[in-house]
Amino acid sequence: MIVKKAELEAIAARKNQYPEDSLKEIAFAGRSNVGKSSLLNLLTNRKNLARVSGSPGKTRTINFYRINDSFRIVDLPGYGYAKVSKSVTESWGSMMETYFQSRQGLVKVIQLVDIRHAPSRQDVEMYQYLRHYGLDGLVVATKADKVSRNEMQKCIRQIRGTLNLSQEDRVIPVSSLKRTGQEDLLSEMEALLEG
Ligand code: GDP
Repeated sequence: MIVKKAELEAIAARKNQYPEDSLKEIAFAGRSNVGKSSLLNLLTNRKNLARVSGSPGKTRTINFYRINDSFRIVDLPGYGYAKVSKSVTESWGSMMETYFQSRQGLVKVIQLVDIRHAPSRQDVEMYQYLRHYGLDGLVVATKADKVSRNEMQKCIRQIRGTLNLSQEDRVIPVSSLKRTGQEDLLSEMEALLEG
């Protein structure tokens, strides 16, 4: 898949701010600072489509990007930032729930985890949540340039084990810095949109 056109269509804190539920959507979830904005910029060939944040955890909205006028990439708010209040955490939860429950066009939520570390308790919870909604099965291991080729397989095994992935679930290592792995991810996305 080649992304020729990418535009920010909506920034939503509430359901009535979502764009019309007329296109297929692939959403991206991960803890703050996992590299989600950098990945979305890489996928869409844009420097600043998604804001790479100096201060993690600030974005508390669901951002909808319209791609090639044919589907949407949805940037879900990052989780797991320590310095937020309980009420912010709660509103995050209800935002996610509203989105997952109401979106007909949602085909998959791609879970992002940092390749270097075992997934956190919140990553595991997030993945279980996706499984509950039947939106699991595709994981991106971000910042793949931070590990050697040798270490990579070990890291991926650790991610698979901690998230309790099944054989058919995929883990794709991607480096936004070195621009590797994105073609693999884009072809998975294409298959999801065709399926
Ligand atoms: P977000 O909070 O999940 O949107 O993460 P960002 O995209 O803002 O990235 C968080 C930090 O990780 C920034 O300092 C990025 O430069 C860095 N980063 C993101 N992707 C990569 C990558 O592929 N490799 C490396 N080495 N650093 C990355």
